[in-house]
Amino acid sequence: MEALLDGRTAVVTGSGRGIGKAIALKLASAGADVIVCDINEGDAAAASKEIESLGRKSMAVAVDVSDFQSVTDMVTSIYENFEQVDILVNNAGITRDKPLFLMAREDWEGVINVNLTGFFNVTRQFIMKFMKAKRGNVVNIASVSGLVGVPGQANYCASKAGIIGFSRAVAKETAKANIPVNCIAPGFIKTDMTAKLNEKQVEEALKLVPMKRMGTVDDVAELALYLASDKAAYITGQVFPVDGGMSC
Ligand code: NAP
Repeated sequence: MEALLDGRTAVVTGSGRGIGKAIALKLASAGADVIVCDINEGDAAAASKEIESLGRKSMAVAVDVSDFQSVTDMVTSIYENFEQVDILVNNAGITRDKPLFLMAREDWEGVINVNLTGFFNVTRQFIMKFMKAKRGNVVNIASVSGLVGVPGQANYCASKAGIIGFSRAVAKETAKANIPVNCIAPGFIKTDMTAKLNEKQVEEALKLVPMKRMGTVDDVAELALYLASDKAAYITGQVFPVDGGMSC
């Protein structure tokens, strides 16, 4: 039986670990060849090997998505090795949580540069190729923090709300070429990012989650697979929370 993404090639940023890695493996298990792009070369290489062990073609690329030139080099090396890219998952993201009165300019710029400018740097370069080929699909990993305010995350909330606005605008630009652009807004997901929180912070965060538990990387990856597939071909410019009811 043909798998959902047979013959497709996907690029997933920040896929050396966490949600990105889970998405990369999910797309590969549905038949896609997957390029693992991450700032951590070792993690990217290890994730890429896992994809190859599923019988898919893969490649690891070291990239800092906040650096336009680094992204240009990434895109060049991808197209030297793969004829086409069909799916882009923008996932690389960071947090530098602090209340605003303690937030240094570097905390602000660091988060905006990776989470928002990084999405511009990557999408800007792939969208030209997608429009020319009249095929492509973009899945952007935003956050519930882009839908509701979270104290201590003014920089992160601003970056994620920015991604949502960015995605809606790009979706309208690419709709005529049938290129969907959608956002997933994960809530509180168990990864290294949330492992930084202490017990008290986890307890406080779970008070905001009606389901009273954290989500898994697979909860997010399942939706990414659906959105990246032809089953979701008529859905664009939308934001889908995966958050145990946090934003409802
Ligand atoms: P994670 O475990 O920290 O993984 C993020 C990955 O991105 C890491 O491999 C990291 O590399 C890489 N990365 C960081 N900066 C990069 C850069 N400048 N260029 C390229 N790669 C970079 O995070 P996660 O929890 O999986 O989060 C993934 C995405 O989901 C992020 O956009 C995050 O904002 C979003 N999200 C997460 C949650 C959650 O609860 N976990 C909730 C909502 C949204 P290093 O190993 O060097 O750090």
